[in-house]
Amino acid sequence: MTSKIAKLLNKIIKGGIPIMLKCQRTDCLHNDKEGKCFAKKIAIDGRTAQTTSGTSCSSYIPAHDFQNSEFADDFMDIDEVPSGVQNIDCAAKNCRFNDNRACIAADVKINSEDASCETFQK
Ligand code: SF4
Ligand code: SF4
Repeated sequence: MTSKIAKLLNKIIKGGIPIMLKCQRTDCLHNDKEGKCFAKKIAIDGRTAQTTSGTSCSSYIPAHDFQNSEFADDFMDIDEVPSGVQNIDCAAKNCRFNDNRACIAADVKINSEDASCETFQK
């Protein structure tokens, strides 16, 4: 990606225009069960990741742990609107879309198996 495109994407992100985040890990407490994430901030791990499998969403919370729990809200830290790519704090510095921990991908997909980032590209 050229730095010109990266700068433009950054501008869009900082301007608050939501960019799509799709999460298939629907058993997460933050997931509306239809692929939208309502966490205010999403942390992606993967400081040494070379592929998708080296990344993971560390904001994942298994919803079943909180079924019928009066404390679930304490862990959710939810927003009223679905989170977008601009809500991601990403440690996967080897990904071409990582710009100083901000994600500049046009959209991001988190997968159902292990909450890793399918959009990762070296
Ligand atoms: S992106 Fe992370 S925090 Fe959000 S619903 Fe998916 S697994 Fe949960
Ligand atoms: S696309 Fe890359 S920078 Fe964006 S969240 Fe996934 S691993 Fe991080």
